[in-house]
Amino acid sequence: SNAIVWFRRDLRLADNPALQAALDAGHVPVPVYIHAPEEEAPWAPGAASRAWLHRSLQALDADLRARGSRLVVRRGDSLAELEKLISETRAEALHWNRLYEPASIARDTRIKQGLKSRGLEVQSHNAALLVEPWTVQTGQGGPYRVFTPFWKNARQVLESVRAAPPPERLPDPPATLAGLDLKDLALSPPAHEPAWDAGFWKHWTPGESGALELLDVFLDGALHGYRRQRDMPGRVGTSRLSPHLHFGEISPRTLVAALQAGDWPAAIRPDLDHYLSELGWREFSHHLIFHFPDTPTDNLNPKFGDFPWADPDPALLQAWQQGRTGVPMVDAGMRELWATGWMHNRVRMVVASFLTKNLRMHWRHGADWFWDTLVDADLANNTQGWQWTAGTGADAAPYFRIFSPVSQTQRFDAEGAYLRRWLPELAKLPDAALAAPWEQPGLMREKAPDYPRQPVVDLRASREAALAAYASVRADG
Ligand code: FAD
Repeated sequence: SNAIVWFRRDLRLADNPALQAALDAGHVPVPVYIHAPEEEAPWAPGAASRAWLHRSLQALDADLRARGSRLVVRRGDSLAELEKLISETRAEALHWNRLYEPASIARDTRIKQGLKSRGLEVQSHNAALLVEPWTVQTGQGGPYRVFTPFWKNARQVLESVRAAPPPERLPDPPATLAGLDLKDLALSPPAHEPAWDAGFWKHWTPGESGALELLDVFLDGALHGYRRQRDMPGRVGTSRLSPHLHFGEISPRTLVAALQAGDWPAAIRPDLDHYLSELGWREFSHHLIFHFPDTPTDNLNPKFGDFPWADPDPALLQAWQQGRTGVPMVDAGMRELWATGWMHNRVRMVVASFLTKNLRMHWRHGADWFWDTLVDADLANNTQGWQWTAGTGADAAPYFRIFSPVSQTQRFDAEGAYLRRWLPELAKLPDAALAAPWEQPGLMREKAPDYPRQPVVDLRASREAALAAYASVRADG
C-alpha cells in the first residue's frame, strides 16, 4: 500500500522522519512536491529562494531516482492536489514534516482537518528543529523572550540528539502517476541575459550532497577557530550552511551529531560550543515566530509602536539596496548579497543598523529586500535578525547601541580583504583609508575616482538624530 510523503522544506533523504515513518509502516512512499507559493502569502518565497528551490528540487529528484524512486511534482491548491493524489494512489497514509510560519501552520491545520473525514492516517513530524517551540517553557510556563535562558534550557536536548541515515533503496511509486516537469514551475528567473542569479552557482551547490560536502569542509576547516574567525567577513570563517538548513537539505540533528561524534582536540571546545549556540539562535528564532506570529510585521517590543521612523526616501533606499551609499562596509555587504545571494552575519548587522538607525527607515524595508535577495531567506531568522538589530525585539541590542560601520571595519576587516573584494573601485586605497575614505578627499580623487565622495548621510549627525528619536519613545513609554 502507498503513503504520500509531502516534501516542503525538508528536501533530503537522511534523517527525514516523514519519509522514514512511511517506510517503517511498510508503505511505498510516494514523494510529492506541490507548488503553491500563494499559500505562504504574504511571504511567498522571494526570487533568490525560488532559484535555489528549483535546483534543490532537481537534486532531490535525482537522489530519489538513484534509489529507485522519483519526485512527483504538482501545482495548485495543496489540499485539492493531495486529495487527487490520495485517490490516484489509494494511499492509506500521508506524512509531512512541520513548518512554523503562521501561514503554513494555518494551511497545514486546514489540510489535517480536511482529510480527517477520509479515514486516512495523517501525521506530521519534526525534521527542522532540535526542540519544538512548545516544549521549552520558562519557569512561569510561558514562551521565552530572551536568548540566554532559552538556550540554557533548550540545549539540554543536545545530549540525546540522534540523526537517522538515509534509506539505501526506495520502492518505485506507481508508474501511472503523472507529474509536472520542474521547469514548468518557472521558479528560476526568466533566461534573459544577463540573469541576475547566474553568478550564484559558482558559490553554491543546492541539494543534500552539496550540504554534506559543505559540512565536511567546515569540520576540517572553519570550525577550528570558529569563535574568533566567525566575525571576519574577509575569511571563510563560518559554515555557510544557512540556505541548506533553510530548505532542510541537512538536518540540525545531523550537524549536532557530527559535532558530537568528532574526536576533537580539547582546544576547540569553545568553537564547538559557539557553533552550537548559533544553531541555538536558529531554534530561538523559530520559538519566537511560533509564539509571536505577528512579529514578521509588528515590533515584538510594543514600545516601538509610535517610533518616529523616517518616511522612506526611494532614492536613499535604492542607494542602500544597490550598494552606493558611500559607506564602504555597507556597500560591500549589499554587493556581496546581490552577487552571491548571501551576506556575512557581521555585515548583515552593519547594513541593517545603517538602514534602521542612520537612515532611520523601518526595518521592514530592509527585511523585504533581504527576503527577495537572500538564498537563505527565512522568515523566522530574518525577522529575528532585523528586530534584534533595529532594537525593536524583546531580546535586542539596546537601541542606543548603534553599529559604527567605520569601527566595525577597523576591527573585523583591518586589512580590507572584504572591502577590496566587493568594492574594486576602492582597491588601490591604503588599508588605513578604506574604512572612512571621505576623510581623505585628495587620495580619493587620485586612487578611487569612481566611488562616492561623501556618504549619503552624515554618520555622526544621523546617529545623534536616531538617539534623539529613541529618547522620545522612552519618554513616552
Ligand atoms: P554559521 O555561523 O555557520 O552558523 C550556523 C547556522 O546557525 C546558520 O547556518 C544559521 O542557520 C544559524 N544561525 C547563525 N546565526 C544566526 C542568527 N543570528 N540567527 C538565527 N540563526 C543563526 N539567517 C538565515 O538563515 N536567514 C535569514 O533570512 C537571516 N536574516 C538575517 C537578517 C539580519 C538583519 C541578521 C543580522 C541576521 C540574519 N540571519 C539570517 C542570521 C545569520 O546572519 C545567518 O544565519 C548566517 O550569516 C548564515 O551564515 P552561516 O551559515 O555561515 O552561519
